Amino acid sequence: MIIDKAEVILTSPDRNFVTLKITTREGLSGLGDATLNGREQAVVAYLRDHVVQLLVGRDASRIEDAWQFLYRSAYWRRGPVTMAAIAAVDMALWDIKAKAAGMPVYQLLGGASRSGLLAYGHASGKSSQELFDSIRAHQERGYRAIRVQSGVPGLKSIYGIASNATFEANRGIRYDHEPAQRGALPNEEDWDTRSYLRHVPTVFEEVRNEFGPEIPLLHDGHHRMTPIQAARLGKDLEPYDLFWLEDCTPSENQEALRLVRRHTITPLAVGEVFNTVWDFKDLVRDQLIDYVRGSVTHMGGITALKKTLEYAAMYQIKSGMHGPTDISPVGMAAQMHLGMAIHNFGIQEYMQHGAKTDQVFQQSFTWSDGLLHPSDTPGLGVELDVDEAGRYPYEQAYLPFSRLADGTVHDW
Ligand SMILES: [Mg+2]
Repeated sequence: MIIDKAEVILTSPDRNFVTLKITTREGLSGLGDATLNGREQAVVAYLRDHVVQLLVGRDASRIEDAWQFLYRSAYWRRGPVTMAAIAAVDMALWDIKAKAAGMPVYQLLGGASRSGLLAYGHASGKSSQELFDSIRAHQERGYRAIRVQSGVPGLKSIYGIASNATFEANRGIRYDHEPAQRGALPNEEDWDTRSYLRHVPTVFEEVRNEFGPEIPLLHDGHHRMTPIQAARLGKDLEPYDLFWLEDCTPSENQEALRLVRRHTITPLAVGEVFNTVWDFKDLVRDQLIDYVRGSVTHMGGITALKKTLEYAAMYQIKSGMHGPTDISPVGMAAQMHLGMAIHNFGIQEYMQHGAKTDQVFQQSFTWSDGLLHPSDTPGLGVELDVDEAGRYPYEQAYLPFSRLADGTVHDW
């Protein structure tokens, strides 16, 4: 199985996606997701200018060797651009190997450890009524676990709340929440942590009163609190039995979580912006988190995230793979196969892609009764319609950023 060519496909159905397609001399092909939200062209250049020529002529069956070669031979290790590029190669090689073996990727990874993957969706609302409607709409679409984000009185536009522009129906499904906006400059949102800390516990009290104690509820702090603020929020949310509180502090200072842990038993999920097992090493060893938020796309592929999750399993820490819409259908399929195979699967984020995306990427997973299941099609189970992809050229888009009332840039 010698690699004949590797092509980078940048397409923008509903949003931008970077896909690597590797083809062997025998004509077998595999897909990998290299999408880095808001910085897509950087990964395209990394792949086209520095990786594609290294792949041609290599043995496609040597997945671990390819990973180690791309990671170590660059000398400049880690970082989101490099690791997304390596991830795409890794996914595509697993896709090829599984197709050659005539089995789905999860079988090559050890076979199914469960019958399906519990997934959560994003409910949000500016008011309680809007939020309740959104939760009910998610339940009607089959979700058995739900992330809850709410508007905060006095703040116009904040992370996690679907804006009117992105509310539009998509196959009858609305986006909660697609934050990257097309345009030449990023949108500005506002923020006030004191207002947020006062308001969020009242939201969860209302939601528990309305929907009862059973449904797993999640919340994303999106890196915006100081350690003592995060500790307070975790403590204040304890009566509402959260499945997890996500990214409560900025990820650079991992020591911060020690302080948070000392004050609360609310489970913590961290790591969607991490790139390698090294980012998780101390957090896992010191048991400062309960869920690993790394995605296959941003953690260097199936090979790398599988190792990270097996390490986490030694400490009873589970997976909570990042799954917003900027993880392409290829990346989502890779996560589903990995989630099926590992023992310590926790939950999968699942936002659902738009109709155009589903036409470009033909998928074969199933979603029923709140559970995802990757298909039993050989490989990852996703095919890319290159002609359809060509109909949607790249459009610049940025994630928003936040400012406080006095104009200070704040973590978004
Ligand atoms: Mg998050």
